[in-house]
Amino acid sequence: MTLLYRSTRGPKSSALTASAAILQGLSPDGGLYVPTATPQLDLDLSQLPNMTYKQVAFHVLQAFLTDFTDSEIQTCVDAAYDEKFDDPQIAPISHHGDDFYLELFHGATIAFKDLALSILPHLMTTAAKKNHFKKEIVILTATSGDTGKAAMAGFADVPGTKIIVFYPSQGVSAIQKQQMITQVGDNTYVVAINGNFDQAQTNVKEIFNDKAFMEQLADHGYQFSSANSINIGRLVPQVAYYFWAYGQLVKQHAVQNGDPINFTVPTGNFGDILAGYYAKKLGLPVNRLICASNQNNVLTDFFKTGYYDRIRPFFTTTSPSMDILVSSNLERLVFDATGEDDDQTAAYMHELETAGHYQVKPDVLERLQANFSADFASADDDRQAIANVYDQTEFAIDPHTAVAKAVADKYRQDTRDDHPMVIVATASPYKFPNAVLSAIEGQDVQVDGLDAVTQLQSTIKVPLPKAIQTLFDAKVRHNETVQPDEMQAAIKNILKID
Ligand SMILES: *Cc1c(COP(=O)(O)O)cnc(C)c1O
Repeated sequence: MTLLYRSTRGPKSSALTASAAILQGLSPDGGLYVPTATPQLDLDLSQLPNMTYKQVAFHVLQAFLTDFTDSEIQTCVDAAYDEKFDDPQIAPISHHGDDFYLELFHGATIAFKDLALSILPHLMTTAAKKNHFKKEIVILTATSGDTGKAAMAGFADVPGTKIIVFYPSQGVSAIQKQQMITQVGDNTYVVAINGNFDQAQTNVKEIFNDKAFMEQLADHGYQFSSANSINIGRLVPQVAYYFWAYGQLVKQHAVQNGDPINFTVPTGNFGDILAGYYAKKLGLPVNRLICASNQNNVLTDFFKTGYYDRIRPFFTTTSPSMDILVSSNLERLVFDATGEDDDQTAAYMHELETAGHYQVKPDVLERLQANFSADFASADDDRQAIANVYDQTEFAIDPHTAVAKAVADKYRQDTRDDHPMVIVATASPYKFPNAVLSAIEGQDVQVDGLDAVTQLQSTIKVPLPKAIQTLFDAKVRHNETVQPDEMQAAIKNILKID
């Protein structure tokens, strides 16, 4: 039976196949695509400890993407999880102190988005073939640093695609900028804008909504698409690593097959932790999912009170990928907790857009709290967590992972819950060398960029990942800078449209 996907804001009757939902990205009514039934996993949990990452990913994708053939799924999995990852296990689990760390930072850009973005291009081009798309897919993204680079690494040289990324020339870290301007691939285009991330993002949205421009592109054989985290093709591959992690814990005799474990997830857009909830729905023995926020703690308040309020000060933190006040993927969980009530979900989201806040009903809150706990880490908690873990175990964690570690500790203190704890480690310390060094040394260090990488390595002695090594002598390939109002012109120039 084919599993269909529907909008969180629209009727079940308008559901699409998985491949069509991947191509669409966002539903035309503004909602997000979700499965219309619980996917059926063709896998006995007891097999997990003996499976490779690729085998686990295959089974999970097979459960969700039922209109893909087994051989199509296998081809996508093989193309994604290969030597681009600098660990043959893809997502190794390490044990330090009381915690297990699910290391999701061994891919091309040393952050967890690689797990999804290394397979999304292959899912998209396969979906395009299945739906008899003749046009070339052009991915258009504005990035504050991580997503754009991970998307480019995924799409680089994938036939039938081009990717154009805009980034704020002053708004990314030194390492991130170096990563951008040296991106390889004949189909990758990187443009800096003289402006901030919001301007880049707003203009990209306007370009997507410009019907005349979209028609002009279509006439030239191009179809725009987006690689952001609301695409179901990004969410599904993330479910795999929760199953994988469980299997590895059983293999390491940390838990007996069938006994539940906890996950603490450093959260921004709610994509990563939602995948954990989907894993639980598919039958993975998960006790609690602990949602960890930084100072931008809108989700902590939401899970405690059922009141979502985006009207609040915005903090710039050392965990920038979690500096988010509107968590897009939360809509999928809210839809689930309303008992799949699309009218109610649409009403909440409308209130969020217009008034800036919404309050869920008590029964909805109760369902949310049945599976999730939430807390946040201050800047000080974050520094302390990096320093403590390093002092006690010599394991260096990045500031995002440290948010999760600080919250996991608070959670255990508050609840005395002693189920085995997996902390989802979302970035390599080498991606944020200044913050990690400052925390470990107990004072703000002045070095940044590659100099800080070198200094951090002489402290922690962890081999440099390929992604960083190659930065030292990579050639600059992209040096175009435009004004925010010239973005559309830049696209036309790249695609040779006049
Ligand atoms: C994107 C990101 C997160 C947040 O993940 P969400 O799916 O947006 O909740 C956490 N840590 C790092 C390093 C990230 O890049």
